[in-house]
Amino acid sequence: MSNGTFNSKSEYLKQRLESFEFESVVYPYGTVKSVGDGVARVEGLSGRLYGELLEFEGGVFGMALDLHENGVGAVLFDSADSVSVGHKVKGTGRVAEIPVGNALLGRVIDPIGRALDGEPLEVDEYLPAERPAPTIIERRPVNTPLETGILAIDSMVPVGRGQRELIIGDRQTGKTSIALDAIFNQKNTDVICVYCAIGQKASNIAHVINTLKKNKAMDYTVVVASTASDSPATQYLAPYCACSVAEGFMNKGKDVLVVYDDLSKHAVAYRAMSLLLHRPPGREAYPGDVFYLHSRLLERSACLSEELGGGSITALPIIETMGGNISAYIPTNVISITDGQIYLESELFHSGIRPAVNTGLSVSRVGRSAQHNAMKKVSGTLRIELSQYREMAVFTRFGSDVDESTAKLLRKGECLTELLKQGRGEPMSLFDQTAILYAYKLDVFENVPVKKVKETAKQLLSELYSKCASCVAEVNNTGDLSDAVESQIKELMCNFKESLK
Ligand code: ATP
Ligand code: MG
Repeated sequence: MSNGTFNSKSEYLKQRLESFEFESVVYPYGTVKSVGDGVARVEGLSGRLYGELLEFEGGVFGMALDLHENGVGAVLFDSADSVSVGHKVKGTGRVAEIPVGNALLGRVIDPIGRALDGEPLEVDEYLPAERPAPTIIERRPVNTPLETGILAIDSMVPVGRGQRELIIGDRQTGKTSIALDAIFNQKNTDVICVYCAIGQKASNIAHVINTLKKNKAMDYTVVVASTASDSPATQYLAPYCACSVAEGFMNKGKDVLVVYDDLSKHAVAYRAMSLLLHRPPGREAYPGDVFYLHSRLLERSACLSEELGGGSITALPIIETMGGNISAYIPTNVISITDGQIYLESELFHSGIRPAVNTGLSVSRVGRSAQHNAMKKVSGTLRIELSQYREMAVFTRFGSDVDESTAKLLRKGECLTELLKQGRGEPMSLFDQTAILYAYKLDVFENVPVKKVKETAKQLLSELYSKCASCVAEVNNTGDLSDAVESQIKELMCNFKESLK
């Protein structure tokens, strides 16, 4: 079916619904009792589905979210200007659906499935936006790494395929950049990516799409976009639709990475909708079911069993905190739903430590089972060393005299902090990551001034690439650091260290 470009969402929905073949059914009608702020109360439409699309006289569509015995409360997708009291409303018997399939790759769509990039979209497969999560029997444990290409994350908070890892931090701390870097790093893998923008500025979304295009990542990515000017109903639907798009791929046995940017805005859109529907407000004025809002979304990420094709959905939800307060309502909810979090700190970000990952508060509850053997071998004690260093650095900040062992610990810590710094759009391969951490373990940078550590690490890598290309290929292909490769690398590194003197 052709899915051209449409000016209004209702126009598009009308065309979609017209194309279904209906048998003769009696459509119940209702009457608009009141309308305002994007919400209409309708009398007389009984027996509706939760989330059913309603067609208002004048061509506007809405979604039934408040079901009463003798009426429904509906949120409207388009402006309420053409709906007025007394208008007739028709139930359609269908819930919101989204196109899925390979035709979506490289495309930008909105949560009801309209193409936003100006080209017609040829699709013939649709899935409902809300679907039940896979059951326990249908899943298998998470044990395959999903490499993000970011050293601080792959070494200390590894993400596995099928895992849900929250990215949490204040505004402007590099949350989106980490998610995008993870997408760029899937370039030569079989992973398909879905980026879902919820209630963001249109200019931000355009920037993200441009960055994806520039990095040639659009070929394997689908963007589901809802802007800040969209109705709360549209913003509310966005992540569910993105998840359905991902499920379309997962059910065909593919591995998918979904980024929800961000769920704080999603919760705010849901709060607006609920308050307009006169649902009782709870803590921070969020409705009582705001936990379920995100749990039912994130439960849909899974690692499917072999019988079901073995596909997976890895979710990277993003949450924005205020003033670093991770114990606010929505952040704690989402932290408790996900399998770990990457906590970004603005203090670190502004002091130049980017990505600003706070290793003490970041965890991956799937742990080391989702890490390559090579990485396991070299990253075992990193977290402890880094937290010891951070603790010691606070004590010695005021220039007190320190003994030799403390000075050494501080030096090593500074060196590690420097090595973990990484610009955006500079993903590292498994070999690069392993080699750098191995060099740190051997203390190759012992006599290098801290400012030059990064540069020296680059030199070391280029030397390894030229002198031991077979090691590079072996580590990257097998994910393991065999004894033979290890001794070869060790020798090269020791020689390199000698040459620095
Ligand atoms: P917002 O709260 O507005 O969504 P955010 O937390 O998603 O912000 P980003 O938009 O990813 O943050 O990044 C904010 C700024 O920091 C951008 O200008 C980006 O270029 C810069 N930045 C992010 N990560 C890095 C990095 N590793 N190195 C250098 N600059 C970075
Ligand atoms: Mg962002």
